[in-house]
Amino acid sequence: MVKIITTTQELQELRGKLKRAAGFVPTMGNLHAGHLSLLQQALQEYDEVFFSIFVNPKQFGPNEDFGKYPRTLTQDLELIQSVLAGRPDKAVYVFAPTDPSEIFPAGYDSSISVCGLSHWLEGKVRPGHFEGVATVVYRLFELIKPERAYFGLKDYQQYLVIRQMVRDLCLPVQIIGMPIIREAEGLALSSRNQYLSPEQRKQALVLFESLQKVAHTLNGKKANLDQARDMIRELIQDPNWDYLELRDAENLSPDLNTSQRVTLLGVYRMGTTRLLDNLQLELA
Ligand code: AMP
Repeated sequence: MVKIITTTQELQELRGKLKRAAGFVPTMGNLHAGHLSLLQQALQEYDEVFFSIFVNPKQFGPNEDFGKYPRTLTQDLELIQSVLAGRPDKAVYVFAPTDPSEIFPAGYDSSISVCGLSHWLEGKVRPGHFEGVATVVYRLFELIKPERAYFGLKDYQQYLVIRQMVRDLCLPVQIIGMPIIREAEGLALSSRNQYLSPEQRKQALVLFESLQKVAHTLNGKKANLDQARDMIRELIQDPNWDYLELRDAENLSPDLNTSQRVTLLGVYRMGTTRLLDNLQLELA
């Protein structure tokens, strides 16, 4: 069963009636197989799953794509329905507020800032972005009270920011990080991929290929770090990189001396579209 909810009042009434623990998948809609993988995992663990579709104005900068971000609710609901086909024991409650004031009522004036993690990499290029993300996710957690919430590792820094917020504020929710779903050739699925022309889509493969090249050079060994960093320096001669960096996978520190796991994060610009990707790597 899929039930759509558009107001906060309706959401709270429903949540009050459901006594069992529930899973939660927050999204901005325009669903693809990456989003659906989160839903599938949540449905494996819970009979009742909340799924939000909300293009959050607070996480977009003034010159970003908030206005043109794809909004495809009818198609999204069909995809959710298809995941539920043949599973009468499961329920998905889709919270898709039609008006942002359902989430941020007039006068709402609080913001959550996860200090260190939010200001590097993506946060440096998009000031205020992670405050917007943390604030909406906190608000959704508060309304939905999930036992577990599912996030894609595609947005690795976002995953770390949310995990840190949950730890610091002692929120009673477990954060589950889910693997990146890619197209066959390697491009990570993203709602923004549809901004790309067929030619740009081909060129965009440089992002995943570069991540793989660096990972191959690193080959899991601290002894190869200098070589991997040299390769990164060479790759970012291409001015389309916003960044390509090796960071500690737990805290995003650039100091990898004591790191056991690292993340290689990159953002490559194709025209005005920013494509994010990362790899998680062991380091011995
Ligand atoms: P978005 O709608 O872009 O805000 O994404 C909602 C959730 O889906 C976030 O937790 C994303 O990390 C996750 N997600 C987006 N793309 C992918 C992907 N290709 N693979 C796995 N998860 C993804």
